[in-house]
Amino acid sequence: MVAVAVIAHVRLRHPDNGNPLFWAAPESVGVVIQAEGSDDVADGSDEAALRGAIATWNGVSDTTVRLVEDNDPAQQERTDWEQFGINLMLFDEDNSSGYFPQGSSAVAITPVWFYSDGRIAGADVLFNGGSYTFSTDGGGFDIQDVATHELGHLLGLDHTGFVGGTMYPYVDPSVILHRSLARDEEHALRAIYSAGSTASISGSVERASDGTPLAGAQVAVRDAAGRTVSANLTDTAGAFLLGGLDGGTYELYADPLDAPVSAANLGASWTIQTDFESTVHGHVTLAPGASVDVGVVIVGDDVAIDLGRNTDRYPLRCVSGQTSDHSVRGAGLVPGSTLSCSDPSLSLVGVTWYSNRVTFGVQVPAQAAPGHLDLVVAGAGGDIDILTGCLEITPPDPAVLFVSPNQGDNGGGFPLTITGSGFRSGARVVLGGIVYEDGVPSGCSVVADTTIELTALPGVGGLSDVVVIDPSGVEGRLENGFEFFDVPSVQSVFPLAGQAEGGTQLVLVGEHFKRRGLAVRIGGIDQGPVEWVSREKLFVTTAGGTPSGPLTIEVQTDDGVGTIVGAFRYAHAADPSVSGVAPGVASAGGGETITIVGADLDDIQAVVFAANLETGLGGFPAPSITVLGPNELSVTTPVAIAGVASVLVQSATGQSGILEAGFSFSEFVPEGGGGCHTVLVDGARPGGSGQGACWLALVLLAVQRTQRLARRRIAIPIE
Ligand SMILES: [Zn+2]
Repeated sequence: MVAVAVIAHVRLRHPDNGNPLFWAAPESVGVVIQAEGSDDVADGSDEAALRGAIATWNGVSDTTVRLVEDNDPAQQERTDWEQFGINLMLFDEDNSSGYFPQGSSAVAITPVWFYSDGRIAGADVLFNGGSYTFSTDGGGFDIQDVATHELGHLLGLDHTGFVGGTMYPYVDPSVILHRSLARDEEHALRAIYSAGSTASISGSVERASDGTPLAGAQVAVRDAAGRTVSANLTDTAGAFLLGGLDGGTYELYADPLDAPVSAANLGASWTIQTDFESTVHGHVTLAPGASVDVGVVIVGDDVAIDLGRNTDRYPLRCVSGQTSDHSVRGAGLVPGSTLSCSDPSLSLVGVTWYSNRVTFGVQVPAQAAPGHLDLVVAGAGGDIDILTGCLEITPPDPAVLFVSPNQGDNGGGFPLTITGSGFRSGARVVLGGIVYEDGVPSGCSVVADTTIELTALPGVGGLSDVVVIDPSGVEGRLENGFEFFDVPSVQSVFPLAGQAEGGTQLVLVGEHFKRRGLAVRIGGIDQGPVEWVSREKLFVTTAGGTPSGPLTIEVQTDDGVGTIVGAFRYAHAADPSVSGVAPGVASAGGGETITIVGADLDDIQAVVFAANLETGLGGFPAPSITVLGPNELSVTTPVAIAGVASVLVQSATGQSGILEAGFSFSEFVPEGGGGCHTVLVDGARPGGSGQGACWLALVLLAVQRTQRLARRRIAIPIE
């Protein structure tokens, strides 16, 4: 065991040497949202929820760490999360990761790969989509809630005994308040990835009975308003450090980490001793940026009274201006005890003791500041136990009443006004799978507590909930409040020209080609029956027209019109066609002479092998062409890739003929061998060269109300 400096905050640590894990280049920690998303969510709001979680961590000020989403579609298609160089957020729907066997209580897991000095090499967020239902609107585990927790692990944080915090290790489908960070987590980023001076408090914890140090004791502070601010654990020598703090006056206390969070929720490198009583040490005043040593915190012997179990749901939400009812489990909760909270302006009413639980109401003044509060239970003999940060004061849910307009083009670009109540600065709007952040470019603007304005971005088509998420994580939702029309768009047409008499078959490629009301117009002229192939592809046979152009092609559906401007011409000449190639095979090395036969080949200017059948793009152009007559071309073959290839002929007008699978290229074997080649290696494992041994930590979020943890954190060395 190597001695390490006292570490601010509860962090993931190397199991052998105790080094805390960190990103060496925190200003750009890349993450990729896997394109499939959750198979429980069809409207794109799953990706919006993941982006909301990323934005929440990025919203912490005065820290250098930043999650940067890589939007490259090629990256988003990847599922090889175990490779270094990509940090994926993905839903494992069939236990392809192996981390979610049947019956697993793990809702999500974040494997973190790291080196012996604590540098993180890579980390990914995997959701247990096979065993659990995920949702963005209350039908399952809240994606944004779970994702925010897991991203905390990705950034290097371990679980916390601050039970109202995002890094609390349990969740159930009713919980959404982990969407927002506790001040504890904000302080953690400022302490670990510091961007300026912050204040800190240090000291140590000892037993009153014999003066021995307490390892793994939780030490926490509240601010002058009684809001829980930060918590950490003592090291094996009993020393603690609370970092990343603002200046101010704090009340400090020590508390055993017994329940609901215990040693079982932390990495193996921790020593957690709980044989002492929760003890309030006193007040400490910090100047901004100052470091204050409070000396020794003396704690008394263990007591029987105990508040909080992991079968409770934390945080306990208390709405400002309202009274809410709660139940907390524990031990020794007998009549004659007293319950109080760390902000005396709140009233606890109807407190009823049931030995193993206590029920009570919390009356919150209308103007109470949001944040977390401690509950303190005191037995008749004066023994106390503190439940750190278990209450969370939030504003009432915002309400979304109506949206104007309530429908629009899925291409976006139009202004939209949301009317309701309880809209606060920092709110986010989720609409059509897109997140709009208050005050951010391309975001939204909270112009009043009843009004939010935004300019719609391209959204997922169909009906969409309109959701306003408060900075506290609570939300207002207008179900199916907006409809995005699936306006078709046309991306390509092939061929680019056709004969004036008509009869040319065109392939149109695009999006949202619905059958209802489908029509295609060229230069404003309806082309008659359209062959619908898919929502991305249409065949249409031209009606013909006078040689002219370029002409605009329109695709009409019930949802609107998509156009491709100046995409097509009518020409005098007949369309060329290809009927055969002789010989039908040539070397992929190129340079062989072949003959193409067909009709109307007089004006051919290009011959392309292996062009795309739908767009005419790509492929390998022939280096030289000789027109032997209207029915015959002599062509020199290009260097190509071995395999079957289409044969495309194209005239100067853009008129084309294509013969599918009309030719094949045989493998080119250069004389003497050698040359460029690709070798596929089985069993490649991730691992940085010259980086030394790499470790894997798995941190998981367990289902609340389940005692059994199928897996805890494990560390696996790789070769
Ligand atoms: Zn966790």
